[in-house]
Amino acid sequence: MTNREQYQKEYRERHKEQLKNWHKRYYQKHKEQIKAYQKTNRKNLREQLKKVLGFSCFICSKIPQKIHYHEIHGLEHKVYPSYILEHSKDFIALCGSCHIALHKIQKHKKRFEKLLKKLGD
Ligand SMILES: [Zn+2]
Ligand SMILES: [Zn+2]
Repeated sequence: MTNREQYQKEYRERHKEQLKNWHKRYYQKHKEQIKAYQKTNRKNLREQLKKVLGFSCFICSKIPQKIHYHEIHGLEHKVYPSYILEHSKDFIALCGSCHIALHKIQKHKKRFEKLLKKLGD
C-alpha cells in the first residue's frame, strides 16, 4: 500500500460517520436525479446486454418478455447487469422456463444423463 492509500484509508476510518452522513445528505438532496440516472443507466445496460447476448432463448429460441442470464459455470448469477456485460462470455440468455429446467438438469445431472441414454437419439 502506498502512503497515499494508507492515508486515505486512515482518513476514511477516522471520518466514517461524517462521510456516511454526507453521503446520506447528498442522496436526499439529489434523490430524484440519482434515481433517474440509475434508471436510464440500467435501461442502457439492458439494451447493451441484448446486443451482446441476444434477446432470444439459447435453448428454445423463444423471445421472452424477461430475459434471464444464466452463468454457465454454475456460479451465483443474481448480479448487476454491468457484471454480466463484463463477463458476457460466461453467460447465456434464456427464457424463464428453460432457465428453471436448466437448473433442474444441473442439479440432477446424473439422473438426466441416465434418462437421456434410455431415450436414445
Ligand atoms: Zn427457452
Ligand atoms: Zn441460472
